[in-house]
Amino acid sequence: MSMKELQSKDLKYIWHPCSQMKDYEKFPPIVIKNGKGVFLEDVNGKKYLDAVSSWWVNLFGHSNQRINDALYKQANSLEHVIFANFSHQPAIELCERIISITPDRLNKVFFGDNGSSAIEIALKLSFQYHQQIGNVKKTRFVNISDAYHGETIGALSMGDMDLYSKVYKPLLLDSIKVEGPDCFRCKFNKERSSCNAECFVNMENKIESIHEEVSAIIIEPLVQCAAGMKIYSPKYLIKLRELCDRYNINLIADEIAVGFGRTGKMFACEYANISPDIMCLSKGLTAGYMPLSLVLMGDKIYNAFYDEYNTMKAFLHSHSYSGNPLGCSVALETLNIFEDENIVEANKKKSMYLRRKVESILKDIPHLGEYRQIGMIGAIELVKDLKTKEPFESEKRVGYAIYQNALKRGVILRTLGNVIYFMPPYVISEDEIDFMVDVAKDSIIEYFSNSDQK
Ligand SMILES: *Cc1c(COP(=O)(O)O)cnc(C)c1O
Repeated sequence: MSMKELQSKDLKYIWHPCSQMKDYEKFPPIVIKNGKGVFLEDVNGKKYLDAVSSWWVNLFGHSNQRINDALYKQANSLEHVIFANFSHQPAIELCERIISITPDRLNKVFFGDNGSSAIEIALKLSFQYHQQIGNVKKTRFVNISDAYHGETIGALSMGDMDLYSKVYKPLLLDSIKVEGPDCFRCKFNKERSSCNAECFVNMENKIESIHEEVSAIIIEPLVQCAAGMKIYSPKYLIKLRELCDRYNINLIADEIAVGFGRTGKMFACEYANISPDIMCLSKGLTAGYMPLSLVLMGDKIYNAFYDEYNTMKAFLHSHSYSGNPLGCSVALETLNIFEDENIVEANKKKSMYLRRKVESILKDIPHLGEYRQIGMIGAIELVKDLKTKEPFESEKRVGYAIYQNALKRGVILRTLGNVIYFMPPYVISEDEIDFMVDVAKDSIIEYFSNSDQK
């Protein structure tokens, strides 16, 4: 079938995620035939560099031979088995390996099958934990501004992005929002180098007054990705850990986007040298292959559920695909690749290369607010007004136009509002980094040369 035929059938049957389907009248979905490394190829043979790792999941390229082989091998022995009362070697090995590389005090693993479900599990665990140890007043959750934790009702309640949640407000849990770090527009006027996470005072003040009702504080460690790759200081996390300890509050670290080497360390919590009480992992866990998520916790929480059945203290949560062996084998092979190829170390060089390359083009970028980067995440934030840092109006859809410019040139740079970001698979080469960044530059310049004429 031709691209045109496929597109018209697609639009006849499919409702795409995070899209206004009417946009597809002018800009129909690109039908992809195959992928190799950082490139995807559409049915017309046009290639696209996947600069967003297919929504932050892909680590080692598309159709990676090692992972393909692991998946194939597993499919030929066991595709799935009920996970209540049954187990299998891939799950057992995966949990042993994960526990050995994640921060201390995390030594038990519960399975989910996507990021949002991991968040739901974390919330339920924290709530039930406090109920069962007698902290019955600890029923509420605290999040920070611009948070994103997924789209299911509980996870959405923990987010703070009106774009995704506004219409559902009457349905959502009543979480307590605290103003979080905002380094680009820091109200404390701190240079990054002299920052001591002064903004934490908002959290401290709020928690002091309400700690008796707080079950957990949930946070995306180090980078609020969906908010536009907002990077903040690990000092904030150190203070948060202390505060949670002081008031017997569970710290939930949502490492769904930042885990698995994305920030330059295997897990973002390592920058602050902290262990959360609960940690959520997904996305890079399977290197972009399979929907799988893990929720890790320590004995403190686990033991509060461990009793005779009739006490009704068990965690009676389940998903049909809990512990799916295909996902587990792929995740195991992902960890093997990390180890065999010393990925975290190898990425340091790539990350430095990316920084130097972007810095060399910044002088050409109109309306440049700032460039920020950590590890394998880089983000160019455009602003309407350089002095006030006022953003462009969202109706202008600056990012969407730049995204389309980049697609024409063969790079997938799906933007977040006024933020153009790079989050490529780790297998990207230096030449490919050059191509990706040059296309970003040309696409931004094209937008402003057109819009300034209007
Ligand atoms: C993507 C994401 C989620 C949700 O994961 P899904 O698999 O899309 O449900 C949660 N938290 C963060 C930080 C994410 O980036």
